[in-house]
Amino acid sequence: TLSDRLSETFKALRGKGRLSEADIDATAREIRLALLEADVALPVVKDFIAAVKERARGEEVSQALNPAQQVVKIVNEELVGILGGETRRLTFAKTPPTVIMLAGLQGSGKTTLAAKLALWLKDQGKSPLLVAADLQRPNAVNQLQVNGERAGVTVFAPQPGNGVGDPVAVSREGVAEARRTLHDVVIIDTAGRLGIDEELMRQAADIRDAVTPDEILFVVDAMIGQDAVNTAQAFLDGVGYDGVVLTKLDGDARGGAALSIAKMTGKPVMFASAGEKLTDFDLFHPDRMASRILDMGDLLTLIEQAEKTFDAEQAAKAAAKLQEGEFTLDDFLEQMQQVRKMGSLTKMLGMLPGMGQFRDQLENFDEREIDRIQAIIQSMTPAERANPKMIDGSRRARIAKGAGRTVADVNQLVDRFFEARKMMQQMARGGMPGLPGSPGM
Ligand code: GDP
Ligand code: MG
Repeated sequence: TLSDRLSETFKALRGKGRLSEADIDATAREIRLALLEADVALPVVKDFIAAVKERARGEEVSQALNPAQQVVKIVNEELVGILGGETRRLTFAKTPPTVIMLAGLQGSGKTTLAAKLALWLKDQGKSPLLVAADLQRPNAVNQLQVNGERAGVTVFAPQPGNGVGDPVAVSREGVAEARRTLHDVVIIDTAGRLGIDEELMRQAADIRDAVTPDEILFVVDAMIGQDAVNTAQAFLDGVGYDGVVLTKLDGDARGGAALSIAKMTGKPVMFASAGEKLTDFDLFHPDRMASRILDMGDLLTLIEQAEKTFDAEQAAKAAAKLQEGEFTLDDFLEQMQQVRKMGSLTKMLGMLPGMGQFRDQLENFDEREIDRIQAIIQSMTPAERANPKMIDGSRRARIAKGAGRTVADVNQLVDRFFEARKMMQQMARGGMPGLPGSPGM
């Protein structure tokens, strides 16, 4: 898998400063392959990789992730962004009924989807009416009726006298029927062809003009692969649409079509259909699709975890430094900020080695005390923070003024810092301070 290849490529790399060009290139090569394997259209892949490289170049090297993971994280974010970020919802008409028209090639899953969408809307308290406007295929009307019955949704089908053979008239009648019978959503199932053709497009455009839908959804088979872009573009030019529905995601297609279509048309994928059962239907989730396209949900989870544990690692490192006596005021400040981030002050400080004996003080520790300590340390120069021994009387006066505290406050902070550090150094040399036999006592 891509995950394996990437971790192989970057086993021991951990950079400094910006991400290196070599890191970016090597990762981009693997991502490019993954996208092509997922059937993303080549021009889309090229554009996409260029955008990712551009962004990666400006990026600082993360402390939590190795360069490959970091590029993958960028790739994932860009993918999710193109696929629509947050899921777009259907817009309902101010005055019902809301008219939803389905368009797409024959076999893309429109009729199945019509019933799935109707059931989904019904479960949300809507009262949908299905309209059978595919009069091309002999069995199409019957297929919708069967599906509608399974969904428990009324189907409006052409009857002698109300426009047999005329899908535009059926659509118009269907909307009128919904208004009469107080259905608040109308879903119009239309005809498709195996390939794109002009007559089909004209028919769909005529239906569109007759009923002015609130939403036109382009239904597309996820297995269509490389051809998705051409089909999507033809329907965009011929009929136009507001959103895309991806079907047959239960197959083993990785769904690169979603990315190609979203990137080329700028239209959001709104729903995903994944099976022949009426309930195999959901809002489209860009993040899930992104990890499917990349085929590395495991790596993405790993990245998330690495970033989470990084904060904990930072705290542990500071504790280790403390024991080695290399602990500086910068570390002290960083720790304060971490502590604040993690919420529970007493708990955190109590976990640090040697801090247990201060527990009583810590229990009474005031959150605002952190603000005061922070203000004082931030008023110090980098040199002072790294080497607190140099903080003499005149420096203390300057620091106090800068922090808006008294010199006594600064003295107290510095004294406390030295006390803690001294104790840590003693511990680091072996044994608890004050215990017989402890070296250094
Ligand atoms: P239409 O020609 O666009 O109306 O497509 P249909 O709704 O008739 O679907 C064509 C075929 O695909 C049918 O056999 C459906 O059962 C099947 N189908 C539709 N959606 C899905 C899906 O999400 N997953 C799977 N596996 N099959 C589907
Ligand atoms: Mg159909």
